[in-house]
Amino acid sequence: MIKDLVHDEAVLSVPCEPATVEDAAVAQDLLDTLASIEDAACLAANQIGVTKAIIVFQDESGKAHVMYNPRILMGLAATKVPESCLTHEEETRVTRFAKIKVAFDELVDGAFKPRKRDYLGWEAQMIQHMVDHCKGKLI
Ligand SMILES: [Zn+2]
Repeated sequence: MIKDLVHDEAVLSVPCEPATVEDAAVAQDLLDTLASIEDAACLAANQIGVTKAIIVFQDESGKAHVMYNPRILMGLAATKVPESCLTHEEETRVTRFAKIKVAFDELVDGAFKPRKRDYLGWEAQMIQHMVDHCKGKLI
């Protein structure tokens, strides 16, 4: 279901709780909401008002991915980059790694499977932005 975006910093600054397999409907709402917003490539659950650690993002081919409980294990080549946010007005400069290793859960047949993957460039930047959202951190 398409949800309204939350712009209230009091909600967005609360650290998210761990997601469970019961939260599959939240992930679907995130995918539906992301698909409904032009020019949006990523979204975290608290941006639709659910304080659970779930993020969705579109890769460069436009395919959407869901990550439950994403954590950045390692980052390389930090640089300052300009960044903007769907639920925060001004563009700011933040430090982001160009390459990251991420641990997350994937929902497969009703159970979480732990995954680890490397991401580069734009995808790495989006994931770092989304992991910050999960921590209640705003750029
Ligand atoms: Zn954001």
